[in-house]
Amino acid sequence: MSATLPANTARIPRWGLPPWTIDFRSEQLPLPEEVEFAVVGGGFTGLAATAWLRHVEPNSRVALFEASRIGAGSSGHTGGMALSETAAGELPGLGDVLAGFSSILRELQVRCDLALPGALEIGRQGAIANSPIRWNDSGTLGVTREVPGGTIDPGKMLSGLAQVASESGALLFENAPVESLSLEESPVLNINGTSVRARRVLLATNAESLELSGLAGQAQPKFTLAVATEPLSSDQLSSLGLAQGKPFYTVDLPYLWGRVFHQNRVIFGSGLVHLDDWRELLTLNVAEGQAAELLADLERRVRDLHPALRGVRLSHRWGGPILIADKWEPVFRRHAQHRDVIVLGAYSGHGVALSVYLGRWAAEAMLGKKDLPQWENDPNAPD
Ligand SMILES: Cc1cc2nc3c(=O)[nH]c(=O)nc-3n(C[C@H](O)[C@H](O)[C@H](O)COP(=O)(O)OP(=O)(O)OC[C@H]3O[C@@H](n4cnc5c(N)ncnc54)[C@H](O)[C@@H]3O)c2cc1C
Repeated sequence: MSATLPANTARIPRWGLPPWTIDFRSEQLPLPEEVEFAVVGGGFTGLAATAWLRHVEPNSRVALFEASRIGAGSSGHTGGMALSETAAGELPGLGDVLAGFSSILRELQVRCDLALPGALEIGRQGAIANSPIRWNDSGTLGVTREVPGGTIDPGKMLSGLAQVASESGALLFENAPVESLSLEESPVLNINGTSVRARRVLLATNAESLELSGLAGQAQPKFTLAVATEPLSSDQLSSLGLAQGKPFYTVDLPYLWGRVFHQNRVIFGSGLVHLDDWRELLTLNVAEGQAAELLADLERRVRDLHPALRGVRLSHRWGGPILIADKWEPVFRRHAQHRDVIVLGAYSGHGVALSVYLGRWAAEAMLGKKDLPQWENDPNAPD
């Protein structure tokens, strides 16, 4: 089984830059010959699992391998809305995602500006009488319901999780693409021509390396887009109905989501680029083609939403990958060819809180302390 990465993986600038920084850089260390636990992918999932493995078993030998830089994938290009449940809603045995997410961050002492004031569902029909939001976007958008949720600073969450993992003694390797995985008695990862043997492996590679995770043909990689405004005044934020800093997303189409970020910037997101193969992500450029058209469309929509946004300047434009699996349910399973390899991801654009929550669960499963969830084979799961 192999996932050959094309030589040019310097794709980060092509996806544009979001308004936060990731200030973690791994040390240059030689690759180990053998570890107990290998985690592949340096996004929220892989980092949370790595940090938790060392948190629970401080003497275990844990290594994380990231093809590019920490946060190079979805996690560094996200919107940072912390939402409950999954994209498919509640699933059997899932538990309380937001409560678990908050307690993991607290226990690991990761400070990432987590705020959970609630999230606003907005729509063109069924708005509540006193909706703080009244925007013009294919009809009038108003608040239909408030649900649990909030926001984080993605740069701080990535850096914080990586810092905690590294300080606790986990080995973090950037520019360490796992090119193939040999499924012998114990799995062997091939990284830059070096073999690393592991007792247990977590594949947290999300929308990329789908042959490695066994998800090629089973889940669809997409690319989605976002913009951030320049800092707005408090009056502008109030007239937009966003003074309380609650993130929002539409429950009908065309889709629009957003949140307030530091200095009263507002982030808005929408649009999907469909991909035939995940490798298209490696050359996708937000300044060209369909991604550029979708960004231009999003900018037009943002300026037309409300008089407070007419003529607003946009300071950041970017996009990132998401992975959508069957029924929009997250994938959390043992690899078909080796029971000591776990595959976790495909949160369908709903992975900020869920990735950390399930990342901890994956760590506990690797340690033999918890079973994997049953929802993928649950006969009672919703269709
Ligand atoms: C624009 C945008 C907005 C979003 N907004 C929200 C939101 O507001 N709320 C929400 O809940 N979710 C949101 N999401 C989704 C959320 O960001 C993701 O679900 C989450 O970040 C996934 O984390 P991950 O660690 O599983 O994957 P990723 O962050 O994609 O990490 C996978 C990592 O694996 C690495 N990798 C791949 N192949 C290899 C290999 N062979 N060897 C080594 N490393 C490899 C990649 O470089 C990458 O760093 C958004 C996504 C996007 C793109």
